[in-house]
Amino acid sequence: MPIPGLRRSPPGSPPPTLSEFSGALRGYLDEAEVAEVLRAYTFGESAHAGQRRSSGEPFIHHPLAVAHILAALRLDAPTLTAAILHDVMEDTATARDRIVEKFGEDVARLVDGVSKIDRIETDTREAAEAENLRKMLLAMSRDLRVILIKLADRLHNMRTLDSLPPKKRLRIARQTQEIYAPIANRLGLHSWSRELEDLSFRHTYANRHRTLARALRRRQGNRRTAMKKIGDALEKQLADGGIAARVSGREKNIYSIYRKMQSKRIHFRDVRDIYGFRVIVETVDHCYRALGAMHALYKPIPHCFKDYIAIPKVNGYQSLHTTVFSAFGETIEVQIRTEEMHRVAETGIASHWLYKTPGARADGADGPHGLARQWLMDLLETQQTSVNPGEFLEHLRVDLFPDEVYVFTPRGDIKKLPAGATALDFAYAVHSDVGNRCIGARIGNVPAPLHTALKSGNQVEAVTARGARPSPAWLNFVVTGKARAAIRGALKNKRRKDSVKLGKKLLDNAVRTLRKSRPRIRSEQKSALLKTLRLAEWNDLLADIGLGNRMPMMVAHQLLGGGGEGEGGGAPQSIAVTGTEGVLVTYARCCRPLPGDEINGVLTAGKGMVVHTADCPNLGELSKRADKLVPIHWDDKVSGQFAAALRLDTENRPGVLASLAAVIADEDSNINDVSVAERDGRHSTICFTLEVRHRHNLSRILSRLREQSGVVAVRRVKG
Ligand code: MN
Repeated sequence: MPIPGLRRSPPGSPPPTLSEFSGALRGYLDEAEVAEVLRAYTFGESAHAGQRRSSGEPFIHHPLAVAHILAALRLDAPTLTAAILHDVMEDTATARDRIVEKFGEDVARLVDGVSKIDRIETDTREAAEAENLRKMLLAMSRDLRVILIKLADRLHNMRTLDSLPPKKRLRIARQTQEIYAPIANRLGLHSWSRELEDLSFRHTYANRHRTLARALRRRQGNRRTAMKKIGDALEKQLADGGIAARVSGREKNIYSIYRKMQSKRIHFRDVRDIYGFRVIVETVDHCYRALGAMHALYKPIPHCFKDYIAIPKVNGYQSLHTTVFSAFGETIEVQIRTEEMHRVAETGIASHWLYKTPGARADGADGPHGLARQWLMDLLETQQTSVNPGEFLEHLRVDLFPDEVYVFTPRGDIKKLPAGATALDFAYAVHSDVGNRCIGARIGNVPAPLHTALKSGNQVEAVTARGARPSPAWLNFVVTGKARAAIRGALKNKRRKDSVKLGKKLLDNAVRTLRKSRPRIRSEQKSALLKTLRLAEWNDLLADIGLGNRMPMMVAHQLLGGGGEGEGGGAPQSIAVTGTEGVLVTYARCCRPLPGDEINGVLTAGKGMVVHTADCPNLGELSKRADKLVPIHWDDKVSGQFAAALRLDTENRPGVLASLAAVIADEDSNINDVSVAERDGRHSTICFTLEVRHRHNLSRILSRLREQSGVVAVRRVKG
């Protein structure tokens, strides 16, 4: 029976030899797979040739040790191959392509994944929130094998941490404590997480660790004989009952003793259950029989019995726990479980690869398999119910957090966003002002459009400009509520301003139409009208007019007391359109008016004013409502780009479209849309939507297009 305390592998233990490693491989891989892994070793050895670790040993010892750690979990050949190669991309000139060529895409992807995590590690500010960084690493990995390699890498680095300078040691130990030990724990790799915790504790609180270790050794020394006797008694009792069992002593790791002392504010001598026994039997039935044998031997402490076999923990953990009074005045916790339960308890997610060994049940529909799978499913928070569970476990190539992405700010902080979030969502997550003034983004220092969907691990920067404004089109590609609300708010604000401005113009115009001499409107007149209309302020009225909800002429009549006709009743005044009116003046898609065209304005409730060409066929119907029609003309100085549609009949010949596009570009016009409407053997009809500044621009473009060879006819399309 192993004696408590001797199970822990001492830090800095010598690396495995190549023959030990290949021996471990032959224990569960077939010859071809073993050969493949060893080929990676030869490759890695020459790639790392001449490199040494800070301990002075050849570098290849490290990846070999990492692969050996993973072989103990019986991970598949690609994982071990990638483990051996895990540092070649970062530390040597070996490019990804060479790994693909030599070992295939699967291995290259794993190596790539580990290298990416290494880069994230160096990019992250130390103050970055640990929980988010953990999730970012998991979300980035996609393939859990990447995380397993990274954890084994960290485990070996922690075992050999002594050779690093103190400052670096401390940083790595802290990071292990905050990031990697919890990840191992979450994945159910309890033996790894315990060791990572202990090793980190040893480096971050060296003195406390030393004191506790000494105290523990002393207590152990006192208990050693007693423990041996108890262990022997347990073994005998089980053998007498005809139960085949492995009994082993175990002790709490130093870090969990420390944590218990901290949380319960107790002294070391008052910490209970430091020693315990684990009994591993063949069947579930034997678990309960072993329990009976235990209780026959030593008196159980009431209320300390837990049946995690009948009611497993959420992570699939199963065991019977009981605490008994031993003959030597020490209370002892005993855990009883089957071999299979033991694997799940120690290696969590990795135990799924263990199940792939020959003779293991493939279906795993019930028992610990089913539970562990359920746990994994919960862990992955996956909504992909269509995924066949068998396949799912085969590949484990899934999003761990399908609903979230984790990205860096330029300062190295981490922001969590919902899946599908774009660079613009990021900008709004930083601050609504940043979002509102955003004009572009940089992702990993490369310019990117605002609608770019972000990936976990991206470093994102929002590019802003003074005076920039949100556009309604942004609502099409933001996914966060915060961004949506901020954009809506800003647009509403802008709409209000625009509608007040347009309303003022329309009302002034109506007043001028009624009275040739422009009357000064007194504030009593204004407030009387506001009272009649039940409006709070003058701007509300103007906004209402601008939005097209109130007819300007009618308001003017009400304002002037209806006595207007007598004085003038002149022809309606025309309003100048400048192109800068904002969202309340829009251009009809049916006729696409251009500066230079004769135009008419139509007030539409809630939408403001729509500009049509004077000859638009749709106006016939609309103009019956004279109160809605506003006489308008283009201002001398119109700004902006206006959409124009045109239609070309061309002969089919190579390069026609390209030469047409070149002409349009040469005239400084953008093509918004192009489609080929008809096509027979010899002719095509091509429709363009262009942006032009003025009717003259369009005329020039039309005549130049007409001159192109192959063009049969060109015309502007209205309606
Ligand atoms: Mn490494």
